[in-house]
Amino acid sequence: MFEDVSELLKKIIHFSKLCHRLGYVGGSSGNVSFRSGESMWISNTGTMLGELSEDDFSCVEVISGTVLRGRTPSKEREIHRLAYARRLDCHAVLHLHPVDCIAAGILLGPKTELPFYVPSHFIKLGTVHQTGFYKAGSLQLAQECSVLLQNENAALLYRHGTVTLGNSIEEAFMRSEYLLEACRLHLKFQGAHAMSEEELADYKQAPTDVFISKDEDGMRSCS
Ligand SMILES: [Zn+2]
Repeated sequence: MFEDVSELLKKIIHFSKLCHRLGYVGGSSGNVSFRSGESMWISNTGTMLGELSEDDFSCVEVISGTVLRGRTPSKEREIHRLAYARRLDCHAVLHLHPVDCIAAGILLGPKTELPFYVPSHFIKLGTVHQTGFYKAGSLQLAQECSVLLQNENAALLYRHGTVTLGNSIEEAFMRSEYLLEACRLHLKFQGAHAMSEEELADYKQAPTDVFISKDEDGMRSCS
């Protein structure tokens, strides 16, 4: 009934620990998931990303939300589930609480867009929208997040954190790092010196950047 996901679990645990080590989450905050066929594997509620083991994941059917294995998937499971339901190209979701992203989001205010200060952040991320102010774990938050991520790969959750999508966990992780850089620049400049629409115009017409990741078959692109 279940595919062998042990390699994917090992990989996602590696990146979860890295997120904790780099200070992108503290305590038991944040959650991670990946798609496997018609299901997603998501970290359980109350688990620490820095201490995850393979037993700390639940398997949830994407279309119905039914828990197929495990008992306590993260309370933000709907953010993950709706991302997989809407985006067939999405294979990993990372929800983190980087303090500098939360601070930049508070300065911007609810339902806003993150300004860019260097082209590479826009090339890597595309437009980054921010949600309104909703309770953590609420369906409202998950639904708004899924709308903002329908055509984009990164979003800010107002007074809460970040969500990044990827075709692989490496891609979702890299997007979290670029988002953190972009938010740190916003904290420095607070809107002054942001790239204008004219400056961004050329990049908006260019294809989004291609990420490269390694798998068992060698190098492959996964943008
Ligand atoms: Zn959260």
